[in-house]
Amino acid sequence: MALIVQKYGGTSVGSVDRIKAVAARVARTAAEGNRVIVVVSAMSGETDKLIGLAHQVSSNPNEREMDMLLSSGERVTSALTAMAIEALGLKARALTGRQAGIYTDTVHTKARIERIAGDRIKKAVDDGYVVVIAGFQGVTEGESEVTTLGRGGSDLSAVAVAAAVKADLCEIYTDVDGVYTTDPNIVPDARKLRKISHEEMLELASLGAKVLQTRSVEFAMKYNVPVVVRSSFNDNPGTLVVEEDKDMENVVVSGIAYDKNQAKITMINVPDRPGIAARIFEAIAGANIVVDMIVQNISSDGRLADISFTVPKTDSRKALEVTDALAKGMGAQKVDVREDISKVSVVGVGMRTHSGVAAKMFQTLAGHGINIMMISTSEIKVSCVIDLKFTELAVRVLHDAFGLAG
Ligand code: ASP
Ligand code: MG
Repeated sequence: MALIVQKYGGTSVGSVDRIKAVAARVARTAAEGNRVIVVVSAMSGETDKLIGLAHQVSSNPNEREMDMLLSSGERVTSALTAMAIEALGLKARALTGRQAGIYTDTVHTKARIERIAGDRIKKAVDDGYVVVIAGFQGVTEGESEVTTLGRGGSDLSAVAVAAAVKADLCEIYTDVDGVYTTDPNIVPDARKLRKISHEEMLELASLGAKVLQTRSVEFAMKYNVPVVVRSSFNDNPGTLVVEEDKDMENVVVSGIAYDKNQAKITMINVPDRPGIAARIFEAIAGANIVVDMIVQNISSDGRLADISFTVPKTDSRKALEVTDALAKGMGAQKVDVREDISKVSVVGVGMRTHSGVAAKMFQTLAGHGINIMMISTSEIKVSCVIDLKFTELAVRVLHDAFGLAG
């Protein structure tokens, strides 16, 4: 008899029929002899709708009130799901984040979970209830202010609850069958991975393969929670996200990811002296902008350099303002922004023990006339910034070159 946490995303609870289907799956899991804790998202589109309403009544909605508002979406689905489960003859009980004992820090709209007092959840499970927890929300210690965990945060709720109650498995139900070698919309013969390591999943998630929220993967890795990503629309087995093991190393490349949400800022002819890069990136960090890649080229006489870096597209205007002001002060020539770029990445833990991945990637791109503007690497990934219009082509030819098709 296993203790299983099942998380259902927005499309999986997107209608009354979908909620009934979730209840049926929960009942089936229980009938197989398991104890089940359910974590739900808001119905698909609901959170966006609530954000839209907030912006209709205020141009700058208060973040505390935003959390009061947004947490309601998950409250609705938790209650409806519990009702649907009870209608099938099981005992079920919906809990808000507060009732479930999910304590967070005080950062409204992107709070971090600090601890979970799991006793109420455990007691209800021991008493034979299916517990249905409203995902994406928590409460602050002391004042009991309602908080939310950032977009996609119900994945994190599920993984954190699974860690707190020491569940045997955390199943994340979504509208895709699992994690694929690349986006199947671009490469129709992309293959579903049977399993993937936490680290690879983190790279893929942060590189724009949006199956799991990044923080939920970090949490799963830290607390070693076995996670499986699968579809609530069928019974296909899904993808296991687990600790790295020996045979994963034999697979050199597991997937190709892309990210179209980056912009490239280039500061041209900045003086090449100690302290310049520090000043630039201090200012960028001070504006709360997250920098991804950084490349510096030094001119042949060694007096001037070009510094390029990438930032999220949504921050490119802010980054331009900051760097423009700095450029003037430093006597740099000018600042360029390019938004028509994308980042394509090859990911795999096997890169630790195999060489030649970068070379093969560059050859493949070159063979199709795709220019590389920036390169960055980590132990298990090589990323290239290329022209946005070549994104799909690059993903296809790399998928092919690394033999990833099913
Ligand atoms: N409903 C929230 C969102 O749309 C949380 C979630 O679905 O995970 O971001
Ligand atoms: Mg989600």
